[in-house]
Amino acid sequence: MSSDQRPLVIIGTGLAGYSVVRAYRQRDSSGKLLLITADDGAAYSRAQFPFALSASQEARELVLATAEQMAYRFDISVRTRTRVIRVERGERVLVTDRAMVPYSRLVLACGAEPLRPTTLRGSAVDQVLTLSSLDEYRYLRHELAGRRRVTLLGGDVAGCEFADHLVRAGCAVNLFEPGSRLLGERLPTLCASRLARLLGRTGVRITLEDGLARVDQGEDGLLLTTLSGARFATDVVIAVLGSRPRIDLARAAGLAVGRGIQVDAGLCSSDPDIFAVGRCAELGGKLFEAPDDIESGARIVAERLAGAPAAMRWRPRLHRLQVEACPIVLCEPPPVSGEWQETATPKGVRAFFHDRHGDCRGFALVGDTVDQAEAEFRRVI
Ligand SMILES: Cc1cc2nc3c(=O)[nH]c(=O)nc-3n(C[C@H](O)[C@H](O)[C@H](O)COP(=O)(O)OP(=O)(O)OC[C@H]3O[C@@H](n4cnc5c(N)ncnc54)[C@H](O)[C@@H]3O)c2cc1C
Repeated sequence: MSSDQRPLVIIGTGLAGYSVVRAYRQRDSSGKLLLITADDGAAYSRAQFPFALSASQEARELVLATAEQMAYRFDISVRTRTRVIRVERGERVLVTDRAMVPYSRLVLACGAEPLRPTTLRGSAVDQVLTLSSLDEYRYLRHELAGRRRVTLLGGDVAGCEFADHLVRAGCAVNLFEPGSRLLGERLPTLCASRLARLLGRTGVRITLEDGLARVDQGEDGLLLTTLSGARFATDVVIAVLGSRPRIDLARAAGLAVGRGIQVDAGLCSSDPDIFAVGRCAELGGKLFEAPDDIESGARIVAERLAGAPAAMRWRPRLHRLQVEACPIVLCEPPPVSGEWQETATPKGVRAFFHDRHGDCRGFALVGDTVDQAEAEFRRVI
C-alpha cells in the first residue's frame, strides 16, 4: 500500500482520541482517519460517573455519541472491540487481535490503566472493582443493584467525589486513605482536615493511615480485614487509587518512555511519525491529567499533523471538585519548591502556595471562600 493510501491512525476513542479527531477535521476535512479502540468507541464524559452513580443512571444514558454516530459526524472509520497488540515501526503496520492495519502516521491516545491494590489477599480479591471506563461503570451498576454498603480505597479527588455522591444517594460509605490526609499532596493540612470533617458529617466513615489487608467472601457479603486488624462486611469494594499511563505498546516499539510516553512540545514521540496525547503521554516530566490539558494537547497534535508549527505550554488551571459537602476549588501549583500558607475561619479555608522567590504559584479555597476563585485566579496567576 502506498503511503498516501494509508490512513492516519489513532489508537483510542477516549477524550484524547476524539479531541484529536475534532481538531484535525477543522483543518483537514477529507484526509483518511481510522480510529482503533478496545472498547465500544462511545464518546462519554468520565467526570459524570460520581453524579451518574448517585442518580442511578444506566451506562447508556452517559453516552454522548456512539462510535457509529462519531464516524458519521466526522467522516472517520472506527474499529471497535479491537485491541492493538504491537506497533511495527519499520513497516508502519499495527498488529491487532483481528488484522494487520497499515498507518501513515500514528497517534497513541491509549489512556491509563487504573491502579489496583497489590498487597491485598483473600478469597474475593478479584471482586475489587475499578471505575475507569463505561464498561466498568456498567458492571459496577450491576453489582450495586439492591445493595448499599460501599467501601472505597483511595482518598484522592475521585475517592472523595464518589464518597460524597454515594452517601447522598443513601449508601453506607467507608473510605480508606493510606496517607495521613485526603487529597494527599494536592491539599495542605488545614484544607484537607476541613474536607475530612465536612465529608464525615454527611455520614462517610473516613479512615486515614489504614487500608485493607484481606477481602474474603463472607456469609453477609464481602468480609474485609483492615491492616490494623478491624473486620467488617461490605457489598462492594471500589479501588480509586489513580492510574498508570499505558506505555507497553510504545515501549515494545522502542519509543522513549518514562512514566508516560515521552513527547516534545509538539506532542511528537521519539519517532517523528508517532504522536502521543492524553493520559498515556508525558511532557517535560509531567503527565496529562486535566481535561483542559488533554484537549490543548489534542489541538497541538492536529496542528502538527497539518504541518503547522505549534507547541504545548502548561497553563495553570482552576479545578472545582464535585464534593457538595465541602466546596473546593484548586489551582494546583507546578512541581517547584515552596510552601503553603493557610488561613482558616469557621466559613472556610484559604491557602496560597509561594515558591522560594515569594511568588504565588497556586492556591486552594475550601468552603464559602470558593466564591472568590475566579478573582484569585486573575489576581495570582
Ligand atoms: C483533575 C481531573 C479532572 C478530570 N475531569 C474529567 C472530565 O471532566 N471528563 C473526563 O472525561 N475525564 C476527566 N478526568 C479524567 C481524565 O481526564 C480522563 O481519564 C480522560 O478521559 C483520559 O482520556 P484519554 O483519552 O487519555 O484516555 P481514555 O479515556 O482512558 O481512553 C483510552 C482509549 O484507548 C483505548 N485503548 C487502550 N489500549 C488500547 C489498545 N492496546 N488497543 C486499542 N485500544 C486501546 C481504550 O479502549 C480507550 O478507548 C479528570 C482527571 C483529573 C485528574
